[in-house]
Amino acid sequence: MNEQLWARLGEEINAFQEEIRELPVTTPVAPDKVRVHLEKRFDLEAPMPLAEVVAETQQFLRRWSTHVTSPRYFGLFNPSVLEPGIVADVLAALYNPQLAAWSHAPAACEMERLVLQRFAEKLGLDPDDTAYSFTSGGAEANLQATLAALAQHFPETGAEGLFALPGRPALYLTAESHHSFVKIARMAGLGTASLREVACAENGTMDPAALREEIARDRAEGLLPFMVVATAGTTGAGQIDPLPEIAEVAEAEELWLHADAAWGGAAVLSERLRPLLEGIERADSITWDAHKWLSVPMGAGMFFCRHAGAVERAFAITTSYMPDETGGALDPHRTTAQWSRRATGLKVFMSLAALGMEGYAALIEHQTRMGTLLRDKLEAAGWLVVNDTPLPVVCFIHPEVRAGALSTAELLEKIYERGRVWISDVAYAGETVFRACITSYRTEKDDLDCLVEEVELAREQVAACAE
Ligand SMILES: *Cc1c(COP(=O)(O)O)cnc(C)c1O
Repeated sequence: MNEQLWARLGEEINAFQEEIRELPVTTPVAPDKVRVHLEKRFDLEAPMPLAEVVAETQQFLRRWSTHVTSPRYFGLFNPSVLEPGIVADVLAALYNPQLAAWSHAPAACEMERLVLQRFAEKLGLDPDDTAYSFTSGGAEANLQATLAALAQHFPETGAEGLFALPGRPALYLTAESHHSFVKIARMAGLGTASLREVACAENGTMDPAALREEIARDRAEGLLPFMVVATAGTTGAGQIDPLPEIAEVAEAEELWLHADAAWGGAAVLSERLRPLLEGIERADSITWDAHKWLSVPMGAGMFFCRHAGAVERAFAITTSYMPDETGGALDPHRTTAQWSRRATGLKVFMSLAALGMEGYAALIEHQTRMGTLLRDKLEAAGWLVVNDTPLPVVCFIHPEVRAGALSTAELLEKIYERGRVWISDVAYAGETVFRACITSYRTEKDDLDCLVEEVELAREQVAACAE
């Protein structure tokens, strides 16, 4: 046991969190440069003292990471991590519980079960009548949803595969849905032609009338509609599809409704924001990532499903070499896509234990307030906010960019060079706009001012070059 090493690691954990606001959020670098430095520092043939390995590794990670835990990272839904999550990942590595089988990890399995049960209640599901599991992330939870929906609708495919079907299964989503469904369509053997894109209403959310029409058209052509994906907080613009209306259509058409709330799901933890997700409790399955708005380290996704039988049909197997199930507890490897699995849920359990639902609600409401404030500040500085959501994702554009005088890519280059903030651009409603998400619970007013300053400065710089 190297006490000094652990003491130093503790120092770094403190120092990094204290210094994060001052570190460049991003340091642009070419792959070759990182590779050359790595080979210089790490021989990998002869042994190297662990303390040195740690020190070098830390330097590399500090220097060449986009620091998603910075309060000035306004990016994709990657959060700042809460301390309980860091501790939990160390404990998960230390005890290394094997979550394939309940008997190998009674404590970790039951901790996962408890936290998922509480979250199921918050979603409005009956916790005693819901199947739930941790996943590697939202993409895997969406995959599990699709496989469960197929198993429910077409039980014969378990043995015969999609070949058993007289037509092509159809899954409904929109252009704003997460692109994991493209991969899922391929992985599940559906093919991307099974993805049916439903038109959006003017505000960019799924149009339930268009959904109904598309289903009717497809049925007339011999397709086999089986699933609708509604997104509660789109990746691009944070918008929420109209869940109650989509649930009506899904029920009338007897389709599986999946709610992809990978990021937005956290809103159910706040009494004030919960009404935004009204209708999510009617979904047959739900994706909700803990490693997004719940501020735990990657990767921790969550999957909830009202049909335990479908989940079992999709994933259950028996083997001679795995231990038997214990006293009514389900073995994760029989109810999920993964087999051997680390204690993914430990960091969620420990974070919830430390913060309580109250603590989480406060963080989520704080970030939502910062989003509203950012919208105001941008508009005051002459920028146009183009997306329509109460959640803290702000899509915006400057009239000069919209007029074609400047491009978002040129502005981003300037912003990344300075490295004070990180934002991205995104295609939204036929144009490229900036996207800023309040993804860190650490973000405060000063950080918003810094962001507005940076986009303004970049605009002035690029405009001056163009003259
Ligand atoms: C992020 C995201 C996903 C994918 O989740 P991962 O955790 O990255 O696998 C799926 N759906 C939505 C709406 C997302 O925002």
